Amino acid sequence: MYAGHFAAALAIKAKEPRAPSWALLLGVGLLDVLFGIFVMLGIEKVTMTPHAGHGFTLDFIDWSHSLAMSLVWAALFCAPFRRRGRAVALAVAIAVFSHFLLDLPMHPPDLALWPYSRVHLGFGLWNRLPTGWWWVELSVIALFCGYYVSRALKTFGGRAPWACAVILALHIFNSPWLSTAR
Ligand SMILES: [Zn+2]
Repeated sequence: MYAGHFAAALAIKAKEPRAPSWALLLGVGLLDVLFGIFVMLGIEKVTMTPHAGHGFTLDFIDWSHSLAMSLVWAALFCAPFRRRGRAVALAVAIAVFSHFLLDLPMHPPDLALWPYSRVHLGFGLWNRLPTGWWWVELSVIALFCGYYVSRALKTFGGRAPWACAVILALHIFNSPWLSTAR
């Protein structure tokens, strides 16, 4: 999932407004940030396949994206927020772990249970629904943004619809019909 991750951050913000927005927005993307770093360090591996499937295959992402490591990263990233209270730390942890949950339906089975586990999860909607995945992600975005706007309209000085518009724009730029790489 792409833009949908950020929609999750907005929904969590609406539920726990005391959690810093930057921490939630960084949190939902943390596993991908780590993935980028780990690929550069040669710890994880991705192969670009411009003319097949979703445009890339994630050959080894066990350290950034496995179920166990997602929980570890969530625990580490939320630790400094514990002094702001349990609810805030929990919201930040959920933001990090939501990445795994939202990647689960989209990824082909490349999400390990733990590093070097033989079992890999992923329902594979990216490959099974070459354009349909975009609509699935759109419904996720609609759900999270709808919740955010319904709760946050007053809290954030009327800026909530703009945050949703940015996410929607990201999602539109990422549509399979606009991509020339495939
Ligand atoms: Zn990811």
